[in-house]
Amino acid sequence: MKNSFFLRQFVNFVTILKLNAVYKILIVDDNHHFSKALSYLLKDIYGDRIQFIRAVSNGQEAVEITKKESFDIIFMDADMPVMNGIEATRQIIDKNRFVIVVAVSFHQEMEYIQEMLEAGARTYIIKEDMDGKSISDCFKLIS
Ligand SMILES: [Mg+2]
Repeated sequence: MKNSFFLRQFVNFVTILKLNAVYKILIVDDNHHFSKALSYLLKDIYGDRIQFIRAVSNGQEAVEITKKESFDIIFMDADMPVMNGIEATRQIIDKNRFVIVVAVSFHQEMEYIQEMLEAGARTYIIKEDMDGKSISDCFKLIS
């Protein structure tokens, strides 16, 4: 009887922990339509587990915002004006090697993705193939 009480308390505790597991997400892309589409998809999949989604439009802005706020996962476009995704990934990972950067690019820009992985990105998504599954695979990297 006593054991089941503690077991119940434990289950409640774990449930609360899970409910509080919220994601802080940054989308970096110069294509605002893509940022919006990704943002909708993320809200559709993770809903109230998202603490916030920020969106910026180039690598320089990404480097700046990560100095002020912390993020769990960053979706980083490869080809952007001002500062591209390779350099931004390098600078962000240099400051915080635990942040998960997901390289995001078109199929024809695979060499960018390779360079972003070398710069510290943990995985990548091809824009043409982006769907709920490819996104949830990225979130499996967050533990
Ligand atoms: Mg771009």
